[in-house]
Amino acid sequence: MEITADEMKKSIQKIYDLLEEVSPLDYDCGKLCGEICCVYDESEEHEAVGLFLLPGEELMYEDSDNFNLYAVNSKEVDFPPSWKEDVFMVECINPPKCDRSIRPIQCRTFPLIAHISKDRKLHLILDENEIPYECPIMKDNIRLNDDFIKVTYKVWEILIQNPLVYDLVSFDSRRRDNRKKGYKIII
Ligand code: SF4
Ligand code: SF4
Repeated sequence: MEITADEMKKSIQKIYDLLEEVSPLDYDCGKLCGEICCVYDESEEHEAVGLFLLPGEELMYEDSDNFNLYAVNSKEVDFPPSWKEDVFMVECINPPKCDRSIRPIQCRTFPLIAHISKDRKLHLILDENEIPYECPIMKDNIRLNDDFIKVTYKVWEILIQNPLVYDLVSFDSRRRDNRKKGYKIII
């Protein structure tokens, strides 16, 4: 049975609510780095950087003044072959300020990244190679809050029940393993 837009929105909201209760550290880690992960801009034109959305998340941004929602062809962004539809992204219009109540999952769970090992186990990792700037949490090995790790793991367990999300995490994980540059497994 096909899931309705309303049901999809409710399930994304549940994920947002779970992650709303936790944060990586007990203080605002943005103070360590000038909120580099919000404001980093590698383009010469100083264009805003886009955040990938997971399936259904685009429904949260239809009427937002804080985010510019747009779609890209999945082939242009090197996604797994199972992703036949467009991939949605958002640009933060005025970073680091935004409507935090609807910030994307990718932003909420950072700096943890979901990784599926070759024996199909879900892990959360820190991977400095995936970001073009320095995150002090990774660089200085700052211990993340246990509840943040626990809830983020639970959220990814839910998310990878969607075969598209599973494929994406698995696809990125194999590429990461082939790259042979290290990453740190947190759980
Ligand atoms: S997650 Fe890392 S890069 Fe982002 S604000 Fe915190 S310390 Fe800075
Ligand atoms: S969604 Fe908000 S908190 Fe996340 S990167 Fe954009 S401006 Fe920063």
